[in-house]
Amino acid sequence: MDSTFPTIGILGGGQLGKMMAAEAVRLGIETRLLSPKDAGPMQPYSGAQSGDWTDPDVLRSFVSPCDVVTVESEWAPAAEAAEILPVDTVLWPSPQTLSLIKDKGVQKQHLREAGCPVPEFARCETVESALDTAADFGYPVVLKQYRGAYDGYGNATVHSSDELREAWPELAAEDGLMVETFAEFSRELAVQVARRPNGEQVVYPVAYTEQRDHRCHAVEVPADIDDTIAQNARSTARDAVEAVNGVGLIAVELFEMPDGRVLVNELAPRPHNTGHYSIEGSQTSQFENHIRAILDWPLGSPALRAPVAVMVNVLGRRDGTPPRTDGLRQALAVDGVAPHIYGKPDVRPGRKMGHVTAVGDDREEVRKQAEMAASAIDL
Ligand code: ATP
Ligand code: MG
Repeated sequence: MDSTFPTIGILGGGQLGKMMAAEAVRLGIETRLLSPKDAGPMQPYSGAQSGDWTDPDVLRSFVSPCDVVTVESEWAPAAEAAEILPVDTVLWPSPQTLSLIKDKGVQKQHLREAGCPVPEFARCETVESALDTAADFGYPVVLKQYRGAYDGYGNATVHSSDELREAWPELAAEDGLMVETFAEFSRELAVQVARRPNGEQVVYPVAYTEQRDHRCHAVEVPADIDDTIAQNARSTARDAVEAVNGVGLIAVELFEMPDGRVLVNELAPRPHNTGHYSIEGSQTSQFENHIRAILDWPLGSPALRAPVAVMVNVLGRRDGTPPRTDGLRQALAVDGVAPHIYGKPDVRPGRKMGHVTAVGDDREEVRKQAEMAASAIDL
C-alpha cells in the first residue's frame, strides 16, 4: 500500500458497518459498504450500495477500488470476496480466521485444541449421540446451532432427555448440533482485542455484560471483579485471538466461574456490542482500532478515559412503526450521556435500535444515567 489515503470496503450495512465507517471517515479514509438489502444504518454514507453479494460480478465491482476489505459479520461472503480480490487488496480478518469462527462447533474445537479453557462440549450429529452426551455431562445442557445464530436464537437449554428430544428437530441441521454443559457462571464478561497482521495487539479492559432474555442489556467497564480474574480474562482473550490468528478487532465472550476460572464462550471476528462503550469511554474506540489494525497502522490505546463507562442497549418496543424522536429528546436532557440511534427504518420488538453510553466516576451514578436515557428513548 502506498502513502495515498486508502479505500476500505465493508461487507455489511448494519450498525457495526456504520460505526466502523464513521471512524474511517474521521480519518479521511474512503469507505464503501455493500449490503444484500437496503440497510438503514449505512444510508448516511455516499459509498453505500445494496446488491446481491453472492453474485461474483457485484462483489468484483465492489472490491475493485478497495485497498482493504473487511466484514461486519462472520456471515458475509468473505471466502467469495477473497477469490476475486485484486492482487494488491487484502481482506481482514482472513477467510481462514472467519471460517474457524463462523461455525461454533469448529470454533470451540479449535479453541480447545489450542489449549483455551472452554465449557465441556461435543459435536453431535444425531439425537441419539446428543442424548448420550447429555447423560454423560449431566443436565441441563445447552444445544447450539453451528451457524447463523445470534442474540440467543439458535440455542436451547434443556433439562431432561424429553426436552432434548423435543428441541432437537426444531434446531438441528444436517450435521446436528453442539451439546454443551450448562456453565453455572457467576458473571458474563467480554474482552476486545485489536490485532495487526504482524501480531501486535492491544487488549481492552474487561467488560461486564448483563444479559436479559438472552440479549445483552447493559455493559459496565471495567467489570467490578478481582484483579487476578481480570488479568486471567485478558490473557485468555489474547490467547483465543492468537489461536485463530485474528486480525482487526476480535471480541471474546467469557464466563467467569465461581471457582475463579474464566471460560471462553465464543469469539466474534469484528467489533461487538459489548465494546460500543469504547466510542466515548476509551482513548481509542473498538471501531477505530479495527480500522487501524486492518490497515496495519499503529494501534491506539484501549485505556478508559474515565473511571467507569456504561452502555445500555435500546431495543425496539413497537412493531413495524417508523422510529420517533420524542423519547430521544428526553434522553438528551440527561446529563453526560451519548445516545446512538442506528437508523433502522422500522421498529421491531427486541430489535437493537440504538444504544446509550455514559461515562463518569461513580459506577452506580453512571449506570443510573445510562439506564434513564436508554429507557426514555422510545423509538
Ligand atoms: P449473541 O449473538 O448474543 O452473542 P449467540 O446467539 O451467538 O449470542 P451464545 O453467545 O452462544 O449465542 O449464547 C447466548 C447466551 O446464552 C450467552 O451469552 C449466555 O448467557 C448463554 N449461554 C450460552 N452458552 C452457555 C452455556 N454453556 N452455559 C450457560 N449459559 C450459556
Ligand atoms: Mg454470544
